Amino acid sequence: MSEVRIVSLPGDGIGPEVTDAMQHVLGAVASKFGHEISVEEYAVGYTAFEATGTPLPNETLEACLRGPAVFLGAVGDPRADKLTGDKRPEAALLTLRSELGCFANLRPARVDEPLVAMSALKDEIASGCDLVIVRELTGGLYYGTPRGNEGGRAVNTLVYDTHEVERVARVAFELAGRRRGHVTSVDKANVLEVSQLWRSVVSDLASEYPEVTLEHMLVDRAAMELVTNPARFDVLLTENLFGDILSDEASAMCGSLGLLSSASVGGEVGLYEPVHGSAPDIAGRGIANPIGAIRSGALMLSYSFDLQAESAAVERAVAEVLAEGLRTADLVAPGDMAVSTDEFANAVAEAIT
Ligand code: NAD
Repeated sequence: MSEVRIVSLPGDGIGPEVTDAMQHVLGAVASKFGHEISVEEYAVGYTAFEATGTPLPNETLEACLRGPAVFLGAVGDPRADKLTGDKRPEAALLTLRSELGCFANLRPARVDEPLVAMSALKDEIASGCDLVIVRELTGGLYYGTPRGNEGGRAVNTLVYDTHEVERVARVAFELAGRRRGHVTSVDKANVLEVSQLWRSVVSDLASEYPEVTLEHMLVDRAAMELVTNPARFDVLLTENLFGDILSDEASAMCGSLGLLSSASVGGEVGLYEPVHGSAPDIAGRGIANPIGAIRSGALMLSYSFDLQAESAAVERAVAEVLAEGLRTADLVAPGDMAVSTDEFANAVAEAIT
């Protein structure tokens, strides 16, 4: 029996609704597989700001740093639009990611067969796609110095050290070893020196993973292939800025923002979040799609607790419920009947075997 100990940050908008759904499914996993689950809940985002004057209270940050796993629903509220700097709900998220030292962001993008028709791509292109983007999260252009904007001249700096490339590449190779065994490393080595270093570090590391094949691809070609031939990709490894853009592009093939999950790993504590935001337009109505949150829970079981069978059981249950035809409102055609967030989560919990 394992103890699954989670710090839960439901946050704002639909965050609490999808967090409840994820926890309900984890509860079913715990009872099916005989684990003990404990959840400590803390405030984050606008909800925390209203209560304490800051979107990331010390108490919340300290609990997250104790770990071992943090689940975050979503942050953001239209009432926060007038706030600036570190009072904004989104600032909590950025601080949390860097405080936890999560240098590798994993974003699976898989087209569920029953949802092929919902993809932004043609059915025959989207069908069967199943890839993961491994994005470097704590370096590159978003963090390099000098940076600034003064007197009509602005500067940002793209910088990577060998060890930063190596540690995120290791995550990609290990992941590919558990999947279809292929890494595509994306760079701009025909122009950027940083990409040339990136390419040589990744090539050197490849010899430690003989079961994985490696190809290098320029980012412009990768952007094109993601919409013309996404099925060719297994694990895409890339730096922070390229990964930010390519992961949103890849998500368009899946059918709804509500389907996408993420894991940010590399530090002592893992951070797991659905990709979507707080969706204030549908908050409080019980119609949010909980799949992204539930799948983030599956990633948490795999990465933070090494419970691979349990993680696979969650994925299987979601697939089964989709195959039965259950859909939340974002995935139904006009006129079709949709189930609520809770009804969908109940069905997934019941399908855990
Ligand atoms: P959003 O992701 O909240 O919503 C975009 C659209 O997708 C909306 O129409 C929404 O109804 C729909 N949608 C999103 N998740 C859904 C789900 N699970 N089920 C069904 N439909 C879903 O993005 P936005 O509207 O640009 O931002 C709203 C707030 O969320 C902002 O304050 C933004 O800063 C914040 N945000 C937070 C995160 C995060 O917490 N990780 C990420 C993105 C945006």
